Amino acid sequence: MIKATNIQKYFGELQVLKGVDLRIKAGEVVSIVGPSGAGKTTLLQILGTLDNQSNKKESELEINGIDVTSLKDKALAAFRNNHIGFIFQFHQLLPEFSAIENVCIPAFIKRTGKAEAETRATELLIFLGLSNRMHHRPNELSGGEQQRVAVARALINNPSIILADEPSGNLDSESADKLHQLFFQLRDEFGQTFVIVTHNEELADMADRKLTMIDGQITDQYVERSLGSPKKP
Ligand code: ADP
Ligand code: MG
Repeated sequence: MIKATNIQKYFGELQVLKGVDLRIKAGEVVSIVGPSGAGKTTLLQILGTLDNQSNKKESELEINGIDVTSLKDKALAAFRNNHIGFIFQFHQLLPEFSAIENVCIPAFIKRTGKAEAETRATELLIFLGLSNRMHHRPNELSGGEQQRVAVARALINNPSIILADEPSGNLDSESADKLHQLFFQLRDEFGQTFVIVTHNEELADMADRKLTMIDGQITDQYVERSLGSPKKP
């Protein structure tokens, strides 16, 4: 569950998020579309606790019932590692490590034992159709394969929430279709919540709910606020 209220973000003088309200239920797949520069990536980074809103005191951010704005660095890092998986447009795999090693990294950060992490990583890579690519390095894999490795890495700690920023932006249409089907399969099998920023209309329309972000605001969701000034529907 994600409950965000009145999220604002300034970069210097520039206000990038202008009071975003969002309610996302467990197991929901929500897509966010909108023009480049609207603030989608900034919002995702804040929802993922990788960045802070500029108005902590006048806003709320609750994830899985936890007020994440109150968490300090170490606790926040642990929270993120346990609850949230990230999938980016550019997979950001480490080039010097094999697929399975890349997938294991978040588990090692969580101090999962090597054998357990490798077992789980192997299961995930098989599930993602990469059983014969596990020991290859990223530069020996296709774009679609690399992105599936990144998905496995996002899933290894069983996060309840997956945040994806243009996950198929870099893929050919067949790989993109497969990746999109995978998201829904994961939600159906494991009940994960997905927030997906995308330019892909097909993917956006497959979601349970499609939200539009324009100029720092979500334009089509009205949330009753107990905080801040009321927002027009
Ligand atoms: P989107 O993902 O919707 O394309 P972003 O959230 O990346 O939009 O960016 C929104 C606006 O914030 C853009 O004008 C961008 O240039 C600006 N911006 C993003 N990150 C930073 C930053 N770290 N410093 C300054 N400006 C930034
Ligand atoms: Mg972006």
